[in-house]
Amino acid sequence: MRRNANAAGGGHVRAKKQYGQNFLIDEGILDEIVEGAGITGEEIVVEIGPGLGSLTKRLCGQAGFVLAVEIDQELLPLLSASLHPYQNIKLLHADIMKISLLEEVQTFREKRGIPDAYPVKVVANLPYYITTPILMKLLEEEPFVEDITVMVQKEVGERICALPGSRDYGALSVACQVRCETEWLIDVPPESFRPRPKVDSCVIRLAKRQEYAVSPHDIKMFWNIVKAGFNQRRKRLANSLTNAGLCRKEEIEKVLEDLGLDVNIRAEKCSLQDFANLADGLDAGDR
Ligand code: SAM
Repeated sequence: MRRNANAAGGGHVRAKKQYGQNFLIDEGILDEIVEGAGITGEEIVVEIGPGLGSLTKRLCGQAGFVLAVEIDQELLPLLSASLHPYQNIKLLHADIMKISLLEEVQTFREKRGIPDAYPVKVVANLPYYITTPILMKLLEEEPFVEDITVMVQKEVGERICALPGSRDYGALSVACQVRCETEWLIDVPPESFRPRPKVDSCVIRLAKRQEYAVSPHDIKMFWNIVKAGFNQRRKRLANSLTNAGLCRKEEIEKVLEDLGLDVNIRAEKCSLQDFANLADGLDAGDR
């Protein structure tokens, strides 16, 4: 397969597989991403992996400010050249997983005099080899990020947006839906990229909620139940939680009964509220 892509300056760049480089070449999709992200001109957009800059240019044209974080040193001179006309961007050579986005954004705000009121939104065509770690970082470690519009592998998008009872519903669905409103924006075929990925893609938007969708007393217990339940998703929830040492079998069966839930229920059938109620039920039993 040809793995070359046109650089903005007209030359050719060899796409690096180890960095998940599949450059977006479909102008229509690029426009739809920017539109779907709800950019107003009064925000800081963080782009993870600007690549050859096709999305970056559009973001610079519409967003207040752009902070673009790229791991591939070789792309930096090309990017700087093609983004030369824009004054509202900072290009950062870094591995997104190794930096504190909060610190980088604060420095950017101070240096450019960006109002504190400007929210931070992430817009990116993500490198697929680290999609989940990046999303978990944005959800858990960088809570100030208010909005996330990202291209992901279609299968991952389906897991993020899945509802209870569906095959794709799992810990990632709960992790995203507890903190965000999730929205499926568009389907994207392999032909929209160069080189073409072997998988279908989609663009989703995660808008952070002001507060979690549910409010169990013990949030740690809530996450432990979710993790244990989906670690053994084919097993009855009562067994998974007992095996994980979270409770005794009689205890969880009583809580399930009290909640009016089937004692044989599996994690994949539990709503966010069911998980929260279970956490509270087991928590109350402990007191
Ligand atoms: N935004 C470009 C586009 O839409 O054409 C490129 C998207 S490409 C799927 C993913 C980009 O993320 C590549 O430019 C790659 O070098 C960069 N990347 C990969 N791993 C990264 C990391 N850990 N930190 C920052 N950037 C990374």
